[in-house]
Amino acid sequence: MEKYAPLNPPERILLGPGPSNVDDSVMKALSKPVVGHLDPVFLAIMEEVQEMLRHVFMTKNHLTIPVSGTGSAGMEAALVNAIEEGDHVLVCISGVFGQRMSDIVKRCGGVLKTVETQWGTPIDPEQVRSALAEFPASVVAIVHAETSTGVLQPLEDISRIVHERDALLLVDTVTSLGGAPLKIDEWEIDICYSGTQKCLSCPPGLAPITFGQRAIDKLNRRSSPVQSWYLDMTMVQKYWGPDRVYHHTAPISMIYALREALRLVVEEGLAARWERHRVHHNSLVKGLETMGLKLLVDPAYRTPMLNSVVIPPGVDDTAVRKRLLEEYNTEIGSGLGPLKGKIWRIGLMGHSCTEENVNHILSALKSLI
Ligand SMILES: *Cc1c(COP(=O)(O)O)cnc(C)c1O
Repeated sequence: MEKYAPLNPPERILLGPGPSNVDDSVMKALSKPVVGHLDPVFLAIMEEVQEMLRHVFMTKNHLTIPVSGTGSAGMEAALVNAIEEGDHVLVCISGVFGQRMSDIVKRCGGVLKTVETQWGTPIDPEQVRSALAEFPASVVAIVHAETSTGVLQPLEDISRIVHERDALLLVDTVTSLGGAPLKIDEWEIDICYSGTQKCLSCPPGLAPITFGQRAIDKLNRRSSPVQSWYLDMTMVQKYWGPDRVYHHTAPISMIYALREALRLVVEEGLAARWERHRVHHNSLVKGLETMGLKLLVDPAYRTPMLNSVVIPPGVDDTAVRKRLLEEYNTEIGSGLGPLKGKIWRIGLMGHSCTEENVNHILSALKSLI
């Protein structure tokens, strides 16, 4: 076999829909010595990670852990544990990730109903209310920050409606966690999952997840085993609990990285971090609008960490993104599904969310379009 050159990826400026840039201290954490997954030193690290996850999720939920796998593994873990064959599940779809949830619901035998809205607009709580009036859902699933459109979905009214019907509220916060206010206990979210590579600015590979008491009660009442062995929380929680019953080997180095990324979030403070995302989002929007560019989403529903910019007529989507990467070493995202070729997605997530990056992308776009 030929010899391969040593690995040497470039240091990009990551302003897409994730991954975001990773702080040096998180990269250093990844290279620390690997210990055994039942080593007392590692067990203490697991506990610290759980404590810090509860803090960033703003919850007291005991069952709060990082699932081994990316955000989509978190999505799958949330759904397969919440759903038994024949359960009625309402999924709110306003973009790619709502669609992905409905796909998983069907695969695990749920009876699916969807409420949908035009991509780029939020779900109206009244849609949920009228859907639940005729469909006895035990779970309602929704995306908080829909990364394919840039909509931040208000959750409090929907939470109230869902609980009036005694259903569980299951929320995707892969993009919002660590970048916008998210209050699991206060908003009574029953099951919530996230990912590491968006506003937590850790490499991709883990999916923080949290289950409230109502969700655990439903899990304990199941008459059939969870459809996925790997993601079965009834077994995984015994590994993360006091008994440390072996289930699968924790991805040691990724847990180190997450611990360091969470430490940085705690050090900055949640409120300060949300504010940083808000401030830089505002200045990016101002700069884009000064250039005559328009955003897809109504100002009241914009996610601060993901900005959907309407591509002006006559501008070549692919060419601009190619030149950004080659000449400015910078990644932004393209549109997905019906928005392909219609929008760019500029991410300002976690460590990538800086004034310097806002100025950089504005001046790069000015020279390219
Ligand atoms: C990125 C993302 C996911 C999927 O996460 P992966 O890490 O790509 O598996 C799910 N939901 C939302 C809202 C996302 O932005």
